[in-house]
Amino acid sequence: MRNYRQAILALVVIAAPISGVWADTSLSLTGSFEPGALIIGTTAAGNTVTHDGLPVRVSDTGDLLLGLGRDATGKTTVIITSPDGESTTYNYAIESREYDIQHIDGLPPKQVTPDPDTQERIAAESTLIKAARKNDLRETLFLSGFSWPVTGRISGVFGSQRVLNGNPRSPHNGVDIAAPVGTPIYAMGDGRVVLVHEDMFYTGKSVIVDHGHGLTSVYVHMSEILVAEGTEVRKGDAIGKVGQTGRATGPHLHWGVTLFSTHLDPALVVGPMPEG
Ligand SMILES: [Zn+2]
Repeated sequence: MRNYRQAILALVVIAAPISGVWADTSLSLTGSFEPGALIIGTTAAGNTVTHDGLPVRVSDTGDLLLGLGRDATGKTTVIITSPDGESTTYNYAIESREYDIQHIDGLPPKQVTPDPDTQERIAAESTLIKAARKNDLRETLFLSGFSWPVTGRISGVFGSQRVLNGNPRSPHNGVDIAAPVGTPIYAMGDGRVVLVHEDMFYTGKSVIVDHGHGLTSVYVHMSEILVAEGTEVRKGDAIGKVGQTGRATGPHLHWGVTLFSTHLDPALVVGPMPEG
């Protein structure tokens, strides 16, 4: 009996260092730790990953996405756990970032409340958008990399905000690119079209493309939509044309990128706009 027990103990002792050798909790990352950033990571396939306590999908090849919201500050934590339970914690300091905040005071008080029918319509459209952003597509379509959907003058940046009579409005959650009506709009990366809407109250003709693992891009105010729900697109495919449908003061593309419900800065996701 004693010998038997010793034999088991010996096995356990030998097994531990062997499994330790195979546990690979390393993490390699592409991207910067600044608010609004998308970070693409790779770890060993089979590992489980959390980011600030929330589970992150890891593909069969170990690819994963991390996002930092507009107001992320302090540090952010990624924990990688191997199949045999070995964990490594990675802490990253988030760079500080300032946004363009415009205070406008002394405006005549104006109560702009949409009528009940319009409110109902806005709520229904918001539900459709939220549902599209909940997808957690297994495919790593985002590995195609990203490019600008339209090039031109940036007329609105991510994160900017107006404070009217002391009341902060919602921050601008995308990038606006001014361009003539009819200018082609290209998918920022490989993906699947998950929402097409011909007439949203705020955003007019609108398209959402799913790039996998919760990453979506949205293109709105279009004059024309060239894809249907379910269409598979490749990076650079034309999906629509610039317009000013919905609530827009001039022709431009409002382009947003989200990781689930977290708005990211498209300009950080795609990098500097090419010349010309
Ligand atoms: Zn915009």
